[in-house]
This record gives sequence, structure tokens and C-alpha cells, in this order.
Amino acid sequence: MPGPGEYRPDATEGITHIDDLPEPNVSLRSRDYRRRPCPRCGHSSYRDSRGRRTLHDLGDPLTGRPRDLRVLYSRHFCSRCRRYFNADMTDLAHPGSHYTRRVVDTAVRSVVEDGLPYRAAEWALWRDHRVFVPYATIQNWVEAGGEKGGAADRDRTSRLGTLRLLGLRRRRRVV
Ligand SMILES: [Zn+2]
Repeated sequence: MPGPGEYRPDATEGITHIDDLPEPNVSLRSRDYRRRPCPRCGHSSYRDSRGRRTLHDLGDPLTGRPRDLRVLYSRHFCSRCRRYFNADMTDLAHPGSHYTRRVVDTAVRSVVEDGLPYRAAEWALWRDHRVFVPYATIQNWVEAGGEKGGAADRDRTSRLGTLRLLGLRRRRRVV
């Protein structure tokens, strides 16, 4: 490993395709439970099945490798409401998102607090945190969260807005 201050060429220089990116370090996370209370009625509900989800997290700039979280989670069936729900993972990521909350927060801060343009924010995230987020996605996050003043409001608006925008993106295949 190179010492501090030593010049290292960016290993990703010239990479134009996402498949050419270095292999991520993978960390496993479990949100797998036998029973969970139903979020609607509170009824204790047994696990019905399991699911897996990959989240892109902030990577390691020293090793130059991105980081992914593989989340194993339980899916439960509430016999009262007759509906399925997933074990709560909102501490890790907003529902439907492919990125951890840490990535969303870091990206939004780099624009809102550091004043970076979206394309520069995309580059800074890759350079400093080894996570690739298309700048249009960052823009969606910021626009969804930046309208209201307070941090709590911003978080709530952001969650809803991010969901809405991710839904839109999926349907339209914009990015
Ligand atoms: Zn229920």
C-alpha cells in the first residue's frame, strides 16, 4: 500500500463503463426476524419468506474500492390485515433506493452545503467515497429534499420525493 502523500494515479482513470469499475467490498447486513409487529395494526406476524437487497454505500478511498451492503431481510404476513410487509430497513436506506442513506446524505450535503454543481458532486462522490451516483439522481435527491427549511421536514420530504422520483425513473428508464 502506498504511503501518505505518495502520488497514486487514479485507478479508474479512463473508465467509461460501469462494468469496468473495481469490485466492491461486500458487507452483509441482516434484517431477518422470525416475527415482527405489523406496521399497520401491530399484530405480531411470522416470517413468510426472505429477500435480498443490494445497497451501494460509501466506499474506501484508501483501497480504492466501492462498498456494497447485501441485506438479507425477512418478509412477513399479517393474518389480521391479510397483507405482506418487509422487516424495517429504513435505518439503512429509503424504501426502493439502491443507495444507503449515508450516500444520499453525503450527496445532498455536497450540493446544498458545499455548493457543488451536480456533475462536480457526482465526481466528488466517486473520488472521495468510491460510489458512483449519476448526477441526475443527485439532482433528484436535492430537488426532492431542498424545498423546505427544517432538517426534519427535509428528511421527510426527501424520503417521499426520492421514492416518487425513483418510481418515475424506473418507469421511464431515464438514467
Ligand atoms: Zn396488520
